[in-house]
Amino acid sequence: MKILVINTGSSSVKFKLYDMPAKVLLCEGQIERIGEPEGRLMFTHYLKSGTDDIVLQDTFEDQQQGLNKIAALLLDPDRGLVSHPGEIGAVGHRVVHGGEDFHEATLITPKVTAKIAHLVPLAPLHNPANLKGIRTAMQVFPQARQVAVFDTAFHQTLPEHAFRYAIPNDLYREHGLRVYGMHGTSHQYVAEQGAQHIDKPLDTCNFITIHLGNGCSMAAIENGKSIDTSMGLSPLPGLVMGTRSGDIDPAVIFYLCRHLKMTADQVDRLLNKESGLKGLTGSNDLRDIVRQAASGHQASLLAIHMYTYRIRKYIGAYAAILGRLDGVIFTAGVGENSVLIREKSCEGLSMLGITLDTQLNEQKTQGIREIQSPDSAVKLLIIPTNEELEIARQTYRLLS
Ligand code: AMP
Repeated sequence: MKILVINTGSSSVKFKLYDMPAKVLLCEGQIERIGEPEGRLMFTHYLKSGTDDIVLQDTFEDQQQGLNKIAALLLDPDRGLVSHPGEIGAVGHRVVHGGEDFHEATLITPKVTAKIAHLVPLAPLHNPANLKGIRTAMQVFPQARQVAVFDTAFHQTLPEHAFRYAIPNDLYREHGLRVYGMHGTSHQYVAEQGAQHIDKPLDTCNFITIHLGNGCSMAAIENGKSIDTSMGLSPLPGLVMGTRSGDIDPAVIFYLCRHLKMTADQVDRLLNKESGLKGLTGSNDLRDIVRQAASGHQASLLAIHMYTYRIRKYIGAYAAILGRLDGVIFTAGVGENSVLIREKSCEGLSMLGITLDTQLNEQKTQGIREIQSPDSAVKLLIIPTNEELEIARQTYRLLS
C-alpha cells in the first residue's frame, strides 16, 4: 500500500510517500512560504540510479493549491510513482493536538475533524493548519483513507499526578488545562528503535528520550510508556529551545504585562519566537552558536551552558522518577549532530551510572550509535528520528 504522509503548517506543507509495509521512501518534498509571493517547492524522487531533485519558485496561494501541485507531481506519468489517485491507499496526517480524546492513530471521520476543531484553543497555531491539510487531502485524494497521528497521543499515558497543574480543579475539568506534551511521535519512534537495538521488549524498557531540534523536549519512558514529559499544555515549557524560553517563572509574564504594558499576544510571541537561543545570542541555529562559542563569544558560551544545564536537570529528575534506566537517547537535528551538546549534557552524571565516551561521541557514522563508556551502567544512544515513517507505520497498522 502506498501511504502519503503530510504535515501541514500555517505556511508550509511537508510530505513523504512510502511503500508500506516495506517502509520504502519513494519521494519527499516540501512547499514553503505558502501565501507569500515567493513560494518554493522542493521535491526529491528516489530512483534506483540516484535521486531526481526539483526546486521550483512559484506562488502558492493556500494549502489546497500546494497539495494540488504535490498531487500533480505524484501522478506525473513520466515518473511512474503513482498511476492513479486510488493507488494511494491512505494519507497519514500529523496533527499537533489531540487533547484527551486521542490516544492513538485514528481514522478521520466527520466526528474526528469536529474534535480536532474543538481543540483549536489549545493549539491555535497548529490545529487549524492541520485541519486545512485534512480537508484538502480529502478533496485531492478522495479514494484514500485519511488517518490522524497526534503529537500528543504517546503522552496520554502520563499519570494524573504528572499531567495535572496545581491550579483550581475547574480549570482542568472545564477547560482542559493540563500537561499534554508534544513530539510524541518522535519519542515513541526512538523508544521503539532503542528497544529493538538493545534487544529487549519495549514494555520492559526504561528510557529517557531527548528530542533536540528547533523545538526541544524530553520524555521519561517507563516500561515503554511515557510517564512524564517536559512540554506541557503547549510546546513552550521545559528545555531551552531555538526560539522558545522553556521553563520560566509565570510571574515574568505578569511583569511584562503590568510594567512593560505588553498584550497577551505580544508576550506569546516574545516567549515562543524571540526567546531561547535566539533571545540569548541572536541566532536560533546551534551551529552558529557553537562556532561563535569556539571563538570565545560570551553570550554563546552562556547559551550553551544554559541549554545543557537544563537538559542535565531533567535527566536527573527523570532518573529519580524512573528509578532504573536502560538508556538515554539523543535525537533530532541537534541531538543527532552536535558532539558538544551531547558531551555537555552528560557531564557529571556518573552518579546516575551515565558516562560518555568522548571518542565514540565524536565519530560521525550513520544509523543508531552507542556512545557510552565501557563502565557506564546506562547505554547512551544516538537514534535518528523519523516522525514521517512512524506516521506511515501507525497508519498502516491501523488500516491492516
Ligand atoms: P530539527 O528541528 O530536528 O530539524 O533540527 C534543526 C536544528 O538542528 C537546527 O536549528 C540546528 O540548530 C540543529 N543542527 C543541525 N545540525 C547541527 C550540528 N551539526 N550541530 C549543531 N546543531 C545542529
